[in-house]
Amino acid sequence: SRDNRTLLITGGAGFIGSNFITYFLKAHDDYEIVNLDKLTYAGSLENLREAETFANYHFIEGDIADEAVVEQVFTDYDIGGIIHFAAESHVDKSIADTKPFITTNVVGTVNLLQTAKRDWEEKGVLSERRFHHISTDEVYGSLEEDGAFTEETPYDPRNPYSASKASANMLVNSYHNTYGMNVVISSSSNNYGPRQHDEKLIPTIIRKALAGESIPIYGDGQNIRDWLYVTDHCKALDKVFHEGKEGDTYNIGGRNERTNMEMTNRICELLDEHQQERKQELALSSFKDLITFVEDRPGHDRRYAVDDTKISQTLGWKPVVELEQGLAETVAWYMDKWRKQAQ
Ligand code: NAD
Repeated sequence: SRDNRTLLITGGAGFIGSNFITYFLKAHDDYEIVNLDKLTYAGSLENLREAETFANYHFIEGDIADEAVVEQVFTDYDIGGIIHFAAESHVDKSIADTKPFITTNVVGTVNLLQTAKRDWEEKGVLSERRFHHISTDEVYGSLEEDGAFTEETPYDPRNPYSASKASANMLVNSYHNTYGMNVVISSSSNNYGPRQHDEKLIPTIIRKALAGESIPIYGDGQNIRDWLYVTDHCKALDKVFHEGKEGDTYNIGGRNERTNMEMTNRICELLDEHQQERKQELALSSFKDLITFVEDRPGHDRRYAVDDTKISQTLGWKPVVELEQGLAETVAWYMDKWRKQAQ
Protein backbone atom coordinates (compact mmCIF):
# COMPACT_ATOMS: atom_id res chain seq x y z
CA SER A 1 0.00 0.00 0.00
CA ARG A 2 0.94 3.68 0.15
CA ASP A 3 2.20 2.89 3.63
CA ASN A 4 5.24 1.07 2.30
CA ARG A 5 8.06 3.18 3.62
CA THR A 6 11.03 2.06 1.57
CA LEU A 7 12.15 4.95 -0.60
CA LEU A 8 14.44 4.67 -3.58
CA ILE A 9 16.62 7.77 -3.89
CA THR A 10 18.69 7.95 -7.07
CA GLY A 11 21.80 10.12 -7.33
CA GLY A 12 22.06 10.40 -3.56
CA ALA A 13 25.86 10.71 -3.58
CA GLY A 14 25.70 14.02 -5.45
CA PHE A 15 25.24 17.55 -4.15
CA ILE A 16 21.48 17.86 -3.64
CA GLY A 17 20.79 14.13 -3.18
CA SER A 18 23.29 13.78 -0.32
CA ASN A 19 21.97 16.89 1.40
CA PHE A 20 18.46 15.54 0.96
CA ILE A 21 19.21 12.07 2.37
CA THR A 22 20.99 13.56 5.38
CA TYR A 23 18.09 15.95 5.99
CA PHE A 24 15.43 13.26 5.42
CA LEU A 25 16.97 10.66 7.75
CA LYS A 26 16.92 13.23 10.54
CA ALA A 27 13.42 14.49 9.74
CA HIS A 28 11.77 11.03 9.44
CA ASP A 29 12.80 7.91 11.33
CA ASP A 30 10.08 5.68 9.85
CA TYR A 31 11.53 5.20 6.34
CA GLU A 32 14.12 2.87 4.85
CA ILE A 33 16.27 4.81 2.39
CA VAL A 34 17.84 2.98 -0.55
CA ASN A 35 20.34 5.16 -2.39
CA LEU A 36 21.17 4.03 -5.95
CA ASP A 37 24.13 5.95 -7.36
CA LYS A 38 26.68 5.21 -10.08
CA LEU A 39 29.37 7.25 -8.32
CA THR A 40 30.37 9.19 -11.42
CA TYR A 41 32.97 11.95 -11.09
CA ALA A 42 30.15 14.01 -9.49
CA GLY A 43 29.21 11.55 -6.76
CA SER A 44 31.17 10.88 -3.61
CA LEU A 45 30.62 8.65 -0.59
CA GLU A 46 32.34 11.40 1.43
CA ASN A 47 29.02 13.24 1.10
CA LEU A 48 27.24 10.43 2.95
CA ARG A 49 29.37 10.01 6.08
CA GLU A 50 26.57 11.22 8.33
CA ALA A 51 23.88 9.22 6.49
CA GLU A 52 25.95 6.05 6.91
CA THR A 53 25.50 6.27 10.68
CA PHE A 54 21.76 5.54 10.27
CA ALA A 55 20.74 1.85 10.31
CA ASN A 56 17.81 2.54 7.95
CA TYR A 57 20.13 3.87 5.21
CA HIS A 58 21.33 1.54 2.41
CA PHE A 59 23.65 2.22 -0.50
CA ILE A 60 23.76 0.47 -3.88
CA GLU A 61 26.38 1.37 -6.44
CA GLY A 62 24.74 1.12 -9.85
CA ASP A 63 23.72 2.81 -13.09
CA ILE A 64 20.08 3.83 -13.67
CA ALA A 65 20.72 3.55 -17.40
CA ASP A 66 21.30 -0.20 -16.93
CA GLU A 67 17.88 -1.88 -16.95
CA ALA A 68 19.14 -5.00 -15.18
CA VAL A 69 20.49 -2.90 -12.31
CA VAL A 70 17.18 -1.11 -11.82
CA GLU A 71 15.24 -4.39 -11.99
CA GLN A 72 17.54 -5.93 -9.37
CA VAL A 73 16.78 -3.07 -6.98
CA PHE A 74 13.05 -3.73 -7.36
CA THR A 75 13.66 -7.45 -6.78
CA ASP A 76 15.72 -6.86 -3.64
CA TYR A 77 13.45 -4.21 -2.15
CA ASP A 78 9.71 -3.51 -2.14
CA ILE A 79 10.10 0.10 -3.31
CA GLY A 80 7.30 2.28 -1.94
CA GLY A 81 8.25 5.51 -3.68
CA ILE A 82 11.02 7.10 -5.73
CA ILE A 83 12.74 10.46 -5.50
CA HIS A 84 14.84 10.70 -8.62
CA PHE A 85 17.89 13.02 -8.48
CA ALA A 86 20.41 11.09 -10.58
CA ALA A 87 21.52 13.09 -13.59
CA GLU A 88 24.44 14.44 -15.51
CA SER A 89 24.15 18.01 -14.25
CA HIS A 90 26.89 20.23 -15.62
CA VAL A 91 25.83 22.43 -18.58
CA ASP A 92 29.39 22.93 -19.86
CA LYS A 93 29.90 19.17 -20.03
CA SER A 94 26.65 18.78 -22.00
CA ILE A 95 27.92 21.28 -24.55
CA ALA A 96 31.18 19.37 -24.94
CA ASP A 97 29.50 15.93 -25.17
CA THR A 98 25.73 15.44 -25.14
CA LYS A 99 25.39 11.64 -25.22
CA PRO A 100 25.95 10.86 -21.51
CA PHE A 101 23.17 13.36 -20.75
CA ILE A 102 20.73 11.43 -22.92
CA THR A 103 21.84 8.08 -21.51
CA THR A 104 21.44 9.05 -17.86
CA ASN A 105 18.85 11.82 -17.87
CA VAL A 106 16.51 10.39 -20.51
CA VAL A 107 17.15 6.62 -20.83
CA GLY A 108 17.85 6.31 -17.09
CA THR A 109 14.60 8.06 -16.24
CA VAL A 110 12.67 5.79 -18.63
CA ASN A 111 14.22 2.69 -17.00
CA LEU A 112 13.02 3.86 -13.60
CA LEU A 113 9.55 4.72 -14.90
CA GLN A 114 9.15 1.44 -16.76
CA THR A 115 10.44 -0.79 -13.97
CA ALA A 116 8.43 1.01 -11.27
CA LYS A 117 5.32 0.82 -13.43
CA ARG A 118 5.68 -2.92 -13.98
CA ASP A 119 6.40 -3.66 -10.31
CA TRP A 120 3.69 -1.39 -8.92
CA GLU A 121 1.09 -2.57 -11.44
CA GLU A 122 1.77 -6.19 -10.45
CA LYS A 123 1.21 -5.25 -6.81
CA GLY A 124 -1.90 -3.21 -7.66
CA VAL A 125 -0.42 0.00 -6.23
CA LEU A 126 0.43 2.00 -9.36
CA SER A 127 -1.82 4.92 -8.50
CA GLU A 128 -0.66 5.00 -4.88
CA ARG A 129 3.12 4.90 -4.95
CA ARG A 130 4.81 8.14 -5.85
CA PHE A 131 7.43 8.90 -8.50
CA HIS A 132 9.00 12.31 -7.82
CA HIS A 133 11.27 13.70 -10.52
CA ILE A 134 13.79 16.39 -9.54
CA SER A 135 14.08 18.95 -12.31
CA THR A 136 15.31 22.44 -13.06
CA ASP A 137 13.97 25.87 -13.99
CA GLU A 138 16.32 25.72 -16.99
CA VAL A 139 13.65 23.70 -18.87
CA TYR A 140 11.69 26.95 -19.27
CA GLY A 141 14.44 28.68 -21.27
CA SER A 142 15.72 32.22 -20.76
CA LEU A 143 14.04 35.42 -19.54
CA GLU A 144 14.78 39.04 -20.32
CA GLU A 145 14.30 41.80 -17.74
CA ASP A 146 10.81 41.03 -16.45
CA GLY A 147 8.68 38.14 -15.39
CA ALA A 148 9.32 34.77 -13.82
CA PHE A 149 8.73 31.15 -14.76
CA THR A 150 5.44 29.69 -13.56
CA GLU A 151 4.40 26.04 -13.79
CA GLU A 152 2.44 26.96 -16.94
CA THR A 153 5.44 28.45 -18.78
CA PRO A 154 5.99 26.30 -21.89
CA TYR A 155 9.24 24.34 -22.00
CA ASP A 156 11.90 26.01 -24.14
CA PRO A 157 15.18 24.34 -23.21
CA ARG A 158 18.15 25.98 -24.87
CA ASN A 159 21.20 23.85 -24.04
CA PRO A 160 21.69 20.07 -24.23
CA TYR A 161 21.49 19.66 -20.44
CA SER A 162 18.15 21.47 -20.13
CA ALA A 163 16.86 19.70 -23.26
CA SER A 164 17.59 16.33 -21.62
CA LYS A 165 15.83 17.42 -18.41
CA ALA A 166 12.79 18.70 -20.33
CA SER A 167 12.63 15.36 -22.17
CA ALA A 168 12.67 13.51 -18.86
CA ASN A 169 9.90 15.77 -17.48
CA MET A 170 7.73 15.06 -20.50
CA LEU A 171 8.26 11.30 -20.17
CA VAL A 172 7.39 11.45 -16.47
CA ASN A 173 4.19 13.36 -17.24
CA SER A 174 3.35 10.90 -20.01
CA TYR A 175 3.40 8.07 -17.45
CA HIS A 176 0.78 9.94 -15.48
CA ASN A 177 -1.45 10.62 -18.49
CA THR A 178 -0.99 7.23 -20.13
CA TYR A 179 -0.87 4.80 -17.20
CA GLY A 180 -2.20 6.79 -14.27
CA MET A 181 1.13 6.66 -12.45
CA ASN A 182 1.32 8.88 -9.36
CA VAL A 183 4.01 11.30 -10.52
CA VAL A 184 5.08 14.73 -9.36
CA ILE A 185 7.80 17.05 -10.70
CA SER A 186 9.65 19.84 -8.92
CA SER A 187 11.67 22.41 -10.83
CA SER A 188 14.13 24.44 -8.82
CA SER A 189 16.50 27.30 -9.44
CA ASN A 190 20.28 27.22 -8.83
CA ASN A 191 21.17 25.51 -5.60
CA TYR A 192 24.16 26.45 -3.48
CA GLY A 193 25.57 25.14 -0.21
CA PRO A 194 27.86 22.43 1.18
CA ARG A 195 28.85 19.35 -0.89
CA GLN A 196 28.49 20.93 -4.32
CA HIS A 197 31.04 19.62 -6.81
CA ASP A 198 34.16 21.77 -7.23
CA GLU A 199 33.34 22.41 -10.92
CA LYS A 200 30.27 24.61 -10.22
CA LEU A 201 30.31 28.42 -10.01
CA ILE A 202 30.54 29.10 -6.27
CA PRO A 203 33.16 26.43 -5.40
CA THR A 204 35.15 27.49 -8.46
CA ILE A 205 35.25 31.11 -7.30
CA ILE A 206 36.41 30.12 -3.82
CA ARG A 207 38.95 27.55 -5.05
CA LYS A 208 40.52 29.82 -7.66
CA ALA A 209 40.64 32.75 -5.25
CA LEU A 210 42.41 30.79 -2.52
CA ALA A 211 44.86 29.37 -5.08
CA GLY A 212 45.64 32.89 -6.27
CA GLU A 213 44.51 31.96 -9.78
CA SER A 214 42.30 34.08 -12.01
CA ILE A 215 38.57 33.72 -11.31
CA PRO A 216 36.87 33.12 -14.66
CA ILE A 217 33.56 34.91 -15.29
CA TYR A 218 31.61 34.13 -18.44
CA GLY A 219 30.82 37.02 -20.82
CA ASP A 220 29.98 40.29 -19.07
CA GLY A 221 29.01 38.63 -15.77
CA GLN A 222 25.50 40.07 -16.04
CA ASN A 223 23.67 36.75 -16.38
CA ILE A 224 21.07 36.54 -13.64
CA ARG A 225 20.34 33.43 -11.60
CA ASP A 226 18.05 32.81 -8.65
CA TRP A 227 19.93 31.20 -5.74
CA LEU A 228 18.31 28.64 -3.47
CA TYR A 229 20.05 27.32 -0.37
CA VAL A 230 20.16 23.54 -0.60
CA THR A 231 18.51 22.87 2.79
CA ASP A 232 15.58 25.12 1.82
CA HIS A 233 15.28 23.01 -1.33
CA CYS A 234 15.33 19.77 0.71
CA LYS A 235 12.43 20.97 2.87
CA ALA A 236 10.46 21.91 -0.24
CA LEU A 237 11.09 18.45 -1.73
CA ASP A 238 9.84 16.80 1.46
CA LYS A 239 6.59 18.80 1.12
CA VAL A 240 6.20 18.10 -2.59
CA PHE A 241 6.85 14.37 -2.14
CA HIS A 242 4.38 14.00 0.73
CA GLU A 243 1.72 16.60 -0.09
CA GLY A 244 2.11 17.58 -3.74
CA LYS A 245 -0.83 16.96 -6.05
CA GLU A 246 -0.48 13.95 -8.32
CA GLY A 247 0.42 14.88 -11.91
CA ASP A 248 1.46 18.41 -10.91
CA THR A 249 4.67 20.42 -11.17
CA TYR A 250 5.97 22.73 -8.42
CA ASN A 251 8.51 25.49 -9.01
CA ILE A 252 10.96 26.09 -6.17
CA GLY A 253 13.02 29.29 -5.95
CA GLY A 254 15.15 31.14 -3.44
CA ARG A 255 13.81 34.68 -4.00
CA ASN A 256 17.45 35.69 -4.52
CA GLU A 257 18.05 36.99 -8.03
CA ARG A 258 21.67 38.04 -8.49
CA THR A 259 24.03 38.57 -11.40
CA ASN A 260 27.05 36.27 -11.51
CA MET A 261 29.15 39.39 -10.96
CA GLU A 262 27.29 40.30 -7.76
CA MET A 263 27.73 36.75 -6.45
CA THR A 264 31.43 36.73 -7.30
CA ASN A 265 32.05 40.10 -5.67
CA ARG A 266 30.23 39.09 -2.50
CA ILE A 267 32.21 35.85 -2.20
CA CYS A 268 35.46 37.76 -2.71
CA GLU A 269 34.43 40.17 0.05
CA LEU A 270 33.76 37.25 2.41
CA LEU A 271 37.19 35.83 1.58
CA ASP A 272 38.81 39.25 2.06
CA GLU A 273 37.31 39.24 5.54
CA HIS A 274 38.12 35.64 6.53
CA GLN A 275 41.32 34.96 4.57
CA GLN A 276 43.40 38.04 5.29
CA GLU A 277 46.61 36.06 5.72
CA ARG A 278 46.18 34.31 2.40
CA LYS A 279 45.33 37.63 0.75
CA GLN A 280 48.61 39.10 2.03
CA GLU A 281 50.59 36.03 0.96
CA LEU A 282 49.23 36.53 -2.55
CA ALA A 283 49.97 40.28 -2.37
CA LEU A 284 46.36 41.17 -3.25
CA SER A 285 44.44 44.17 -2.01
CA SER A 286 41.25 42.17 -2.62
CA PHE A 287 40.46 38.74 -4.05
CA LYS A 288 38.33 40.71 -6.54
CA ASP A 289 41.61 41.59 -8.32
CA LEU A 290 41.64 37.98 -9.59
CA ILE A 291 38.33 38.31 -11.50
CA THR A 292 38.86 37.78 -15.24
CA PHE A 293 36.23 37.83 -17.97
CA VAL A 294 36.36 34.86 -20.33
CA GLU A 295 34.53 34.08 -23.55
CA ASP A 296 30.84 33.48 -22.89
CA ARG A 297 29.35 29.99 -22.69
CA PRO A 298 27.66 29.28 -26.06
CA GLY A 299 23.88 29.65 -25.80
CA HIS A 300 24.26 31.14 -22.31
CA ASP A 301 20.76 31.84 -20.94
CA ARG A 302 20.47 35.44 -19.77
CA ARG A 303 18.14 35.22 -16.84
CA TYR A 304 16.23 32.62 -14.85
CA ALA A 305 13.62 33.59 -12.25
CA VAL A 306 11.09 31.42 -10.49
CA ASP A 307 7.56 32.31 -9.43
CA ASP A 308 6.97 30.26 -6.26
CA THR A 309 3.33 31.33 -5.72
CA LYS A 310 2.01 27.79 -6.20
CA ILE A 311 4.21 26.00 -3.66
CA SER A 312 3.96 28.83 -1.13
CA GLN A 313 0.16 29.06 -1.36
CA THR A 314 -0.74 25.38 -1.68
CA LEU A 315 1.98 23.70 0.41
CA GLY A 316 2.95 26.55 2.71
CA TRP A 317 6.65 26.46 1.84
CA LYS A 318 8.95 29.41 1.48
CA PRO A 319 12.74 29.77 1.59
CA VAL A 320 14.10 30.87 4.98
CA VAL A 321 17.88 31.07 4.53
CA GLU A 322 19.05 34.59 3.66
CA LEU A 323 21.61 34.70 0.85
CA GLU A 324 24.11 36.46 3.10
CA GLN A 325 23.92 33.72 5.74
CA GLY A 326 23.87 30.89 3.20
CA LEU A 327 26.89 32.25 1.38
CA ALA A 328 28.86 32.70 4.60
CA GLU A 329 28.12 29.09 5.57
CA THR A 330 29.04 27.84 2.11
CA VAL A 331 32.34 29.71 2.02
CA ALA A 332 33.19 28.45 5.51
CA TRP A 333 32.37 24.87 4.51
CA TYR A 334 34.69 24.89 1.48
CA MET A 335 37.51 26.57 3.38
CA ASP A 336 37.24 23.81 5.96
CA LYS A 337 37.06 21.02 3.37
CA TRP A 338 40.15 22.20 1.51
CA ARG A 339 42.09 22.89 4.71
CA LYS A 340 41.49 19.28 5.77
CA GLN A 341 42.48 18.02 2.32
CA ALA A 342 45.71 20.02 2.41
CA GLN A 343 46.71 18.52 5.77
P1 NAD B 1 25.35 16.21 -9.04
O1 NAD B 1 26.01 16.21 -10.37
O2 NAD B 1 26.03 16.83 -7.88
O3 NAD B 1 24.98 14.71 -8.60
C1 NAD B 1 24.46 13.78 -9.49
C2 NAD B 1 24.56 12.40 -8.86
O4 NAD B 1 23.96 11.45 -9.76
C3 NAD B 1 25.98 11.94 -8.61
O5 NAD B 1 26.09 11.36 -7.33
C4 NAD B 1 26.22 10.90 -9.69
O6 NAD B 1 27.16 9.89 -9.31
C5 NAD B 1 24.83 10.34 -9.89
N1 NAD B 1 24.64 9.77 -11.22
C6 NAD B 1 24.96 10.33 -12.42
N2 NAD B 1 24.66 9.50 -13.42
C7 NAD B 1 24.12 8.39 -12.85
C8 NAD B 1 23.60 7.17 -13.37
N3 NAD B 1 23.60 6.92 -14.68
N4 NAD B 1 23.12 6.24 -12.51
C9 NAD B 1 23.12 6.48 -11.17
N5 NAD B 1 23.61 7.61 -10.62
C10 NAD B 1 24.10 8.55 -11.46
O7 NAD B 1 23.92 16.89 -9.28
P2 NAD B 1 23.04 17.82 -8.31
O8 NAD B 1 23.49 19.21 -8.49
O9 NAD B 1 22.99 17.23 -6.98
O10 NAD B 1 21.63 17.67 -9.03
C11 NAD B 1 20.70 16.65 -8.64
C12 NAD B 1 19.43 16.78 -9.46
O11 NAD B 1 18.86 18.07 -9.29
C13 NAD B 1 19.67 16.63 -10.96
O12 NAD B 1 18.59 15.92 -11.50
C14 NAD B 1 19.67 18.06 -11.48
O13 NAD B 1 19.22 18.11 -12.80
C15 NAD B 1 18.69 18.71 -10.53
N6 NAD B 1 18.87 20.15 -10.31
C16 NAD B 1 20.07 20.64 -9.87
C17 NAD B 1 20.20 22.01 -9.61
C18 NAD B 1 21.49 22.59 -9.07
O14 NAD B 1 21.58 23.81 -8.92
N7 NAD B 1 22.49 21.80 -8.73
C19 NAD B 1 19.13 22.87 -9.85
C20 NAD B 1 17.92 22.34 -10.30
C21 NAD B 1 17.81 20.97 -10.52
